[in-house]
This record gives sequence, C-alpha cells and structure tokens, in this order.
Amino acid sequence: MSPDLHTHSTASDGTLTPTLLLERAAAAGVQVLALTDHDTLAGLAEAAVAAARLGLTLIPGAELSVTWAGRTVHVVGLNLDTQCGALNAGLGRILAFRDWRAEEIGRRLDRHGIPDACAGARDLARGTLVGRTHFARLLVQRGLAASEREVFKHFLVQGKPGHVPGQWATLEEALGWIRAAGGQAVLAHPARYGLTRTKMLDLIGVFRELGGAALEVVSGSHSKDDAFVFARHAREQGLLASAGSDYHGPECPWLDLGRLPALPPGCTPIWADWPHLDRPALALTPTVAPDPPPPPGWVPLPA
Ligand code: AMP
Ligand code: MN
Ligand code: MN
Ligand code: MN
Repeated sequence: MSPDLHTHSTASDGTLTPTLLLERAAAAGVQVLALTDHDTLAGLAEAAVAAARLGLTLIPGAELSVTWAGRTVHVVGLNLDTQCGALNAGLGRILAFRDWRAEEIGRRLDRHGIPDACAGARDLARGTLVGRTHFARLLVQRGLAASEREVFKHFLVQGKPGHVPGQWATLEEALGWIRAAGGQAVLAHPARYGLTRTKMLDLIGVFRELGGAALEVVSGSHSKDDAFVFARHAREQGLLASAGSDYHGPECPWLDLGRLPALPPGCTPIWADWPHLDRPALALTPTVAPDPPPPPGWVPLPA
C-alpha cells in the first residue's frame, strides 16, 4: 500500500485527535502516514507517541497556505524538522492572519444577519486554529445550510458574504521555510485549483524553480484521470509524485484511510529514497523478483 502523505487532525480542521487518527490508520493497514495539518505542527508530538506505540512510521508534515497569483494554493511539507526557527516563525505569521481572518469572517457574517459566528467557530476549534471548516460546521449546526459544502458555496467563497481574501505566505516563503526545515515540498491536490493548462504549467514551473520536489498525483480529491494528468506533468517537469488522502475524519464516509490507489506507472514516488522506510516493500515494489538465496555450501566463483 502507498504511504498516505496528507492527513488532518483536530490540530487543524480534522475531526479525529492525532491519537485516534493514527489508531484508525493502523487499523486500516497504513504503515507510513504523514500528519499534515493546516499551518501548524501542533499535532505532531501526540502523533509521534501514538505512532511509536502502534508501530507506524509517522512523517512529520504540514500543509501550508500560500497565495500565488491572487489565489490560494496549498503546499504540503514532508519530513520537517519541527524545531526549525524559520518554519515556526513563518507558521506563526500565517496563524496570526488566520486569527484575524476568523474575526473578520465573523464581522461579515454578523452584517449578513448571522451573529456570534466567530465565537461559535472558536468553540468548535477547541483552542486550536480556526479555519473556514469550523464556520461551515457551525452554520450546519445552526441549520443555516444542509452541508458544509453548501456553507462554502453560499457563504465562504469569493463573492459570498463571509468571504475574506487570503493573505497567506508567498510560494517563495513557504518553500524557503520547508527547505530550512530540511523537508520536501509537495504541491497539494493540483487539480483542485481550476487553473487553465497554461496557468498550471506556470505554477508547476515556478514551484520547481523554487525547489519544489513533487506533485500530489494521487489525492482524495483527484479522479483517476486527474492522477494520470498530473503523473504526466510530474514526469515531464522532472518532479517526483506524492500520494495522500487529505483525510479530515469519518464524517466523509466516501473517503477513508487505507484506500489510496497506486501511483500511475512511470512516476517516481517521493518516498523512493527515504532512508527511514526500512521496509523495502513500502518504498518501491521491485519489478524483478530478488535472487533466491544460495544453496547451502555454495562458494562464489572468483571474480
Ligand atoms: P481554510 O484553510 O481555513 O481557508 O479552509 C480550507 C479548508 O476548507 C480545506 O482544507 C477543506 O478542508 C475545506 N473546504 C474547502 N472548500 C470546501 C468545500 N467546497 N466544501 C467543504 N469543505 C471545503
Ligand atoms: Mn482542511
Ligand atoms: Mn488543501
Ligand atoms: Mn489538506
């Protein structure tokens, strides 16, 4: 099974604690999992304790919010040194914007006749960072929409009353912080951005020039066709391929842990040369069976 290199916990907008997330992953047969909460490393210490107990390899990661060409794109950093000063300072700045944005979303929804939304979203976030997902859950709870998806569509996206434009990190900053932390940068769920082919090639080109390592070819929000399209982009642009479910919790029954499809043929997995994957079956399935062991008493011929 491929490693799952993109998941969320209650440290951001997931609904399982890091411990419950890792227990569910282990039960589903996942052996290598990256916890990649939005803009925070806060869940990783708890996740590491659970991973050690469960015998699962935890890849320390984060999904950084980036503003590129006036849009929001996400960059997953993998194998991060959680003590890195530059990364922690950068995430601190993004979190400060998140906090201000939560208040601003609250003020805008208030003007639209929806009071106390920021306080309600903060309650749902239980002291961790506040994302639009928390507002979406709140408005569903208040009966203002049938689903989180509907809340996004009617309240939280561009042109809607609770929309606040992102002022996230630049692509250059995000990739710089990931590099400073000794990590690898993955362009998350590229098919989700709705870019034209020209604009996508532009983004992939800049991402690669800034030191980006991989495209997230297999994603919980990609179709099979998307995976083939981005496998080809990765090959043509000399980038590695990553795979991640983008799991947020059991509320989405159509997307579970342990069900990632394999990377399309011809991709080089980002984990191909990870030294800490000492279980070779996880790294690359060998196309040629290994030689059988020599018979007892066998003596090698002189070279
Ligand atoms: P934020 O980073 O706080 O702006 O929120 C982005 C998160 O909202 C994403 O990571 C998803 O978890 C969630 N999200 C974005 N768009 C939608 C949507 N249309 N329906 C449901 N959840 C969404
Ligand atoms: Mn999310
Ligand atoms: Mn994302
Ligand atoms: Mn994600």
